[in-house]
Amino acid sequence: MPVFEYHCSCGLLFEKMRPRRKAQEAVTCERCAQEVTPELSAPRFAFNLTPTDSGPQNTGVAGFDFKPDPVIGADAARRWKEVAKRQTYKKKLLHATGAEGKDLSRTFDGDYTVMKPEERLASETARNMHHEAMDRIRSEKGGKEYLASKLGKG
Ligand SMILES: [Zn+2]
Repeated sequence: MPVFEYHCSCGLLFEKMRPRRKAQEAVTCERCAQEVTPELSAPRFAFNLTPTDSGPQNTGVAGFDFKPDPVIGADAARRWKEVAKRQTYKKKLLHATGAEGKDLSRTFDGDYTVMKPEERLASETARNMHHEAMDRIRSEKGGKEYLASKLGKG
């Protein structure tokens, strides 16, 4: 059965499984008892499966979990929204600044920021050194000595 999303004017966002023939019918808000019509998004489908030991659980994705724990599921849903928010912010930032993905760095609170040219250069230098050192370590061509010389300790 499809799952429909409802957004009440009181602010409550909720979902209900409903038969398709009742898709356009209003439901009663669980918080304020107003009549709410479904969001105009495509309905998602709830799998009509018998729960087993294995299977998706507590993903926070409505209609996907076999045996969702409402608390963990709600927490997961909140985290997925956070991820989506960051991705949207990242896309907007790239679009607004004309920067590329490699021009971005993460801030301590998980946001994105565009690096200054000197930060970008330092980041690239460090990355190249890392790759060079790893290549040498893998092929046993003096990776430690290479790193030490680059870091001025050799
Ligand atoms: Zn309401």
